[in-house]
Amino acid sequence: MKGMITIDKELCKGCTYCIGACPFGVIAVDERFNKKGFFAASPANPDKCTGCCMCARMCPEVAIEVYREE
Ligand code: SF4
Ligand code: SF4
Repeated sequence: MKGMITIDKELCKGCTYCIGACPFGVIAVDERFNKKGFFAASPANPDKCTGCCMCARMCPEVAIEVYREE
């Protein structure tokens, strides 16, 4: 299954929980910090996303939305 995520970088606090939760290495830390001064998470390898939702379930800020292509 093909998936896609979006991350609201201004909600992100850079905890990296989503990076650890993703089994496919889709997410990485962004090179630039957000308005709060955190290095936000970013979907660096979007082609590998399966839409499994593990990242979104882990995010304490509800910053991640997951989409699936059936
Ligand atoms: S939906 Fe699954 S595969 Fe896609 S980024 Fe999140 S944890 Fe990784
Ligand atoms: S889990 Fe949420 S708050 Fe933490 S780094 Fe990922 S997107 Fe940001």
